[in-house]
Amino acid sequence: MITKIKGTQDILPAESRRWQDLEDVIFQVSRLYGFREIRTPIFEASELFHRSVGDTSDIVKKETYDFADRGDRMVTLRPEGTASVVRSVIENKLYAEPSLPLKMYYVGPMFRYERPQKGRQRQFHQFGAEAMGSYSPQVDAEMIAYATTLLAALRLPKVRVKINSLGDTPSKALYRDQLMAYLQPRIDGLCEDCRARFLDNPLRVLDCKVDKESPILAEAPKPLDFLTPEAKAHFEAVLGHLRGMGLEVQIDKSLVRGLDYYTHTVFELEADLPTLGAQATIGGGGRYNDLVETLGGPSFPAVGFAFGMERLLLALESLGEAEKPEPIHAFLIALGEGARTKASELLLRLRHGGLICDTDFMDRPLKGQFKQAERLGARFCLILGDDELAKGVINVKDTETGVQETVEWAQLYPYLVQKIREHAHHCGGECADCSEDC
Ligand code: AMP
Repeated sequence: MITKIKGTQDILPAESRRWQDLEDVIFQVSRLYGFREIRTPIFEASELFHRSVGDTSDIVKKETYDFADRGDRMVTLRPEGTASVVRSVIENKLYAEPSLPLKMYYVGPMFRYERPQKGRQRQFHQFGAEAMGSYSPQVDAEMIAYATTLLAALRLPKVRVKINSLGDTPSKALYRDQLMAYLQPRIDGLCEDCRARFLDNPLRVLDCKVDKESPILAEAPKPLDFLTPEAKAHFEAVLGHLRGMGLEVQIDKSLVRGLDYYTHTVFELEADLPTLGAQATIGGGGRYNDLVETLGGPSFPAVGFAFGMERLLLALESLGEAEKPEPIHAFLIALGEGARTKASELLLRLRHGGLICDTDFMDRPLKGQFKQAERLGARFCLILGDDELAKGVINVKDTETGVQETVEWAQLYPYLVQKIREHAHHCGGECADCSEDC
């Protein structure tokens, strides 16, 4: 048996509805904030990620899927979405559009060669958004609001927003020197990975999962204490906008995030929900004012975030909402060859009218067909035998009331629609049937 690659997952038909529901919420919330979708390729020239995510990041050093294609070009399966969006903005000169900032979101698979565990896969999915072209701290706050609106729309409770500032390029350079001077005599007290990170990119040491409780890291200088006056003013303004919106955030002075391109604001969203296991971080983001220029574009500031969709779905499992198959409107039980031919015609008409219908394709006996209708959650069973075929009628059984009526073929569609509407009225718009109509 050929099995799936380690760290990948099939999203089976029984689960795909949850994904579609999540995507629906993402699309709706994105529209509220004026963001439109961008779709970029799943693989890119490897150089793009080396230059953006950073050669010293764990992602590029240890986790990318790189390969030479048949033309000997080095390509990489994208480990994240921002680099591709930036590449596309430069290539398509979107930065020159009159309507700035550019507001874009994406949804799709990402690839990282990590140790698979609950909430950590090698192929996973992200929903991410980028606002590009504005230096305004209001945009940083708007992105955090966008992320929290999504969580509110999903009814996800107990989400913490952690925020920090790495400052602008001069702040980052100053901080790097201070951190190196502090770590130099102490580095032997930290783990092997930290010792390597210290040489490559000392900032990354603060992000260490092994040494996170170490007093060496707790007492290390923090980026927030080395901000230039401009960077400090930017951060204060972001916090002011967040306060103005009534959004609660926690300043986490050690938050640095795993990608090299961030400047100024960085943030992470964490949920303490049992179904997430050890992976409490459901999303994160920040400002990256220099990345467009680094990748060959003009000076063009930006802020973005990304959520892990598997983690959002795991978090939603804590709310105890069981997977419910979508009920169908009608199941047609046809008895005999002539009835089957007529059934196909009637079903086609009902479906063109927007009703979700099905029938038997397995030659089940009558009882088996009723059973299948029940499995599919059919609201109505439509029964067509030789008698009905001769008279041009069909028996309609309402599975909720048990009432059965005989209806002419021409009246079948309006009859069903009428019944579904009446039902919607009685249920107060709460059920699956009426949510589309009412
Ligand atoms: P990052 O691009 O590393 O900031 O990741 C953004 C979000 O993507 C994280 O907060 C996670 O929710 C999710 N994520 C990152 N890596 C993985 C992975 N290997 N498996 C599942 N989700 C992931």
